[in-house]
Amino acid sequence: MKNILLVGLISLFTVFVPASLVALGVFLLIGSFLPFFLIASAVFILIGIIYNIIGEKGIKKVLKETKTNGAIEVPCAFCKTNHIVNILLDSRNTFVCTKCGHKSLIVLQFLTAQITTPLVVSETTTPIVEQD
Ligand SMILES: [Zn+2]
Repeated sequence: MKNILLVGLISLFTVFVPASLVALGVFLLIGSFLPFFLIASAVFILIGIIYNIIGEKGIKKVLKETKTNGAIEVPCAFCKTNHIVNILLDSRNTFVCTKCGHKSLIVLQFLTAQITTPLVVSETTTPIVEQD
C-alpha cells in the first residue's frame, strides 16, 4: 500500500510539475495557463503510458532471457559429442549437434535428497579403513 502511494506521488510529480512548467512558459508568452496546462498534462500522461508499455515489453524480454537456469554440458543423443546448452524450465530444451547435425532433446529429471548434518569427527580420531 505504501508503494502504491509512493508510485502515485511520483507519477503526479512527473506529470503535473513538467506540465505546470510548460503552461507557465506559455502563460508568460501569451497569457493563457489552464488550457495549456491541461493539454501538457494529457501529453505527459500519454508519454508515461507509452513509456510504461514499451518498458513492460522490455522487462518481459529481459526476464525471458534471464529465465535460463544455467548452462549444462550434455552429450549428443546420436554421436555423444558434448555440447554446452542453456536450460529453460518453461520450454522444450533441444539442441542441434554441431558434429553430426542431428537434433537432440534434453530430458530433465529432478530428484530429492535428504539433507543431513555431517558427523563431527575429532581430529584425534583416525578414520576407519576397511581392508579388502
Ligand atoms: Zn551428434
